[in-house]
This record gives sequence, C-alpha cells and structure tokens, in this order.
Amino acid sequence: MQHRIVVLGAGYAGAFSAGYLARQLHSDDFEITVVNAEPDFVERLRLHQLAAGQDLRHRPLAEVFAGTDIRLRVARVTQVDAEHRTVTVIDGEGIDRLEYDTLLYTLGSTAADHGVPGVNEHAFHVAARPSALRLRARLDELGEDGKVLVVGGNLTAIEAATEIAESRPGLRVSLATSGELGGWLGTKARRHLLRAFDRLGIAVHEHTTIERVEEASAVAADGTVFASDATVWAAGFAVHPIAAASGLEVVANGQITVDRQMRSVSHPDIYVAGDSAFVIGENGRPLPMSCASAGPTSKQATAAIIGNLTGRKIPTITMSYVGNHISLGRKDAIFQPVDGAARSKSRALCGRTAARVKSAILDTAAWALSHPTFGMPSHKYRLATTREHSPDVVAA
Ligand SMILES: Cc1cc2nc3c(=O)[nH]c(=O)nc-3n(C[C@H](O)[C@H](O)[C@H](O)COP(=O)(O)OP(=O)(O)OC[C@H]3O[C@@H](n4cnc5c(N)ncnc54)[C@H](O)[C@@H]3O)c2cc1C
Repeated sequence: MQHRIVVLGAGYAGAFSAGYLARQLHSDDFEITVVNAEPDFVERLRLHQLAAGQDLRHRPLAEVFAGTDIRLRVARVTQVDAEHRTVTVIDGEGIDRLEYDTLLYTLGSTAADHGVPGVNEHAFHVAARPSALRLRARLDELGEDGKVLVVGGNLTAIEAATEIAESRPGLRVSLATSGELGGWLGTKARRHLLRAFDRLGIAVHEHTTIERVEEASAVAADGTVFASDATVWAAGFAVHPIAAASGLEVVANGQITVDRQMRSVSHPDIYVAGDSAFVIGENGRPLPMSCASAGPTSKQATAAIIGNLTGRKIPTITMSYVGNHISLGRKDAIFQPVDGAARSKSRALCGRTAARVKSAILDTAAWALSHPTFGMPSHKYRLATTREHSPDVVAA
C-alpha cells in the first residue's frame, strides 16, 4: 500500500514542494497528488500587471509535472477533515473526497477585507487570477476616463497603483492609506517612491482609513467620500477560512500555527508552507506573506516530510527575510534591504536597474517553478518500515 501524500495548492510553495517530493521519494512507496483550483501555475507576483492589461505566459501544470508520476487534480478544495484525513474537492464532475496519509497545505492567501462593509460586494483585488481579470475587465470598460482608488499603503497597493497609472494614463488613479505611503522605507527609497507617484500623477491620501466601500465610492472614517469607478482593495492578505474551518489551530489572520518542521501544531500529519503558515523567522518576527518566505518554508516542509517518512535527519532551513523588492510600473522599482530586526536600511537600489533585477528574479522564479525537478539530485528514498517522527531538526 502506497503512502498517500496530497499537496493542496500549486503556487510558489506547492509546485516546488510537489516536484521536490516526487524527485526524492520512490513511486512504489509514495503516491503524490496535487490539487489546484487552476490548470496553470499562476505567477501571482505579476497579477497587478495582468489586472493593468498585460498578458502573462501560460504555464500549464500538466506540463510542469510531466514525467514526475504526480497526479494532478484540477479542482477547488472546499474542506479538510483533519480528523478523518480527507479533503473535499469540487470540479466540473461534482464533489469528491480524497484520502491522505500526509497532507501538505499550500493554498496561499487572499485579500483581507478586515470586515469593512462593501469590500466583498464592490471592491476589486489582485490576490488571485480570477479577481485580477475582473479588475482588468472593469478598467477596460472605463477606457480612457474614470477614477480608480487603490486602498492600502503597502507593497501590493504600491505595485497596483503604479502599474495601473502607467498602463492606463487616461485614468485618474489615487491611493488611500491609513498610515504613510511607504512610511517603513529608508529615506532614499521613500524619496524615490514619492517621486514615482508624482511622475505617474497618482494622488495620495495618507492617514485616511476607508470604512465603507460602495458601488461608485469609498467612504473614509472622517466622512470624506472618494468617488471611485473601481476601488482596488489592497490592504493586506489573509488565509482562506478553509484552514480554520478544518479545525486546524490558526492565528487571527487565518494562518496555520506550525512547529519548526512546518507541521500543524494541532495536526502533525499536516505540513504547511507559503502564505498559509504562521512562521517566526530568525529575527523573532513573523515571516511576511511573500514569495521570499515561500522558498524556505517549502524547503523546510519537504525536508521534514522526507525525513519523517524515510527515517532521515531533517536539516534546519534558515528562515530569514532580506528585504522588499517593489515594482513601480515596468521601468522603475525599489529594492529596500532590511536589517536583522526587519528595519529598512538607509541604502536602497532604485530606478531602472532595480526594475531589471526584479524582472529577472521573477522570470527565474517562474522558470524554476515550471521545472520543479530541474538540477535536483534524484534519490528515490523508500518509506521507512518503522515510521519515526524525528523530534528535532539538525543544522543544515
Ligand atoms: C500582486 C501581487 C504581487 C506580489 N509581489 C510580490 C513580490 O514582489 N515579492 C514577494 O516576495 N511576494 C509578492 N507577492 C506575494 C506572493 O505572491 C505570495 O506570498 C506567494 O504567492 C505565496 O505563495 P503560496 O504558494 O503560499 O501561495 P500561491 O502562490 O498563491 O499559491 C496558492 C495556490 O493554491 C491555489 N488555491 C487557492 N485556493 C484554492 C482552493 N480552495 N482549492 C484549490 N486550489 C486553491 C491557487 O490557485 C494557487 O495556485 C505578491 C502578491 C500579489 C498578489
């Protein structure tokens, strides 16, 4: 009887993890199934570009996993029954239930509405491809004339506002943020950011908390009404409610609490990686939901799965965060390094070079994710007859 590993999600964390597991584990002993809502690997880091009107390359998951023995199931996960080790999925054929022995949960995150009335009904977001495409259709409807209000002052809000303003110069783009725009950046980077907003004609409303979104406006806490033909909600990410509803221990934003091996603390047969995992980094702070965090959390989760199932030592993967790379349209960007306490350093790389570097990083990441087993050693480890859960990890 094969040990059934089910990987939920084939984004940055899931696609890497599934490919790596397939490369390392013997297919006589292990059956690996990947469930993903979309048939493609979606380059989520470029969804603001998709929304603004640019086309992204299709990367069909069937091609990504070709030749790996991975079973691909294109379906939406609706529930995880952590007690009975089943996953409920729905697709064009109806509802189905998959059984697992080990689950890797990498369903990512979605836009956090913070309970603000009207966001779900009237606002757009860029956290997933379907929602980015809805925003794109709305911007197409507006054509050369309309008001776009981006809500949020962090990375996704900045990237969305600048991309839309650059791609659609006829639209009047503004941004409302409860804090200061890029207030966390070092002096050089912040100056560059504000100049870019000026150049692109984006109006900035700082210290403005949006409390309600309506069909054609957004209303701030002080009563100011911002007319808006398309309100883009980019005020942070939260994890899909599936995790909490499944009985897994989660924190306030829905992220699953894990131990150092990336196992759910409430259900150790469930491993978590990427945005869905609540992980404390080496600096003692929670890792931000980011592609940069998906890398080490996936490596740790897959190393732990392999170690625990095959009886090997589990290396400790360093959980650090080096900085933010923020695009400002296609020709401009900022790379802001941070120190060990996650404070922005005074130096930063800004302008065309930063944009070129970011684009190269994104292309490399997408290529690597689309070729998940390229260049990796192939071991084909067997299932340990006596399964030992290694209590500790060892330094890499
Ligand atoms: C516009 C934008 C720009 C970003 N820019 C950056 C950046 O510059 N740098 C950076 O580090 N991070 C960036 N991020 C964050 C980054 O995209 C995420 O942190 C990263 O994608 C997390 O990887 P993940 O594998 O956890 O989730 P994802 O990559 O989102 O993968 C989750 C997968 O699960 C699938 N899925 C979700 N729900 C279900 C379901 N119910 N059933 C089946 N499948 C499901 C999805 O289709 C997807 O394939 C950006 C995010 C956005 C939205």
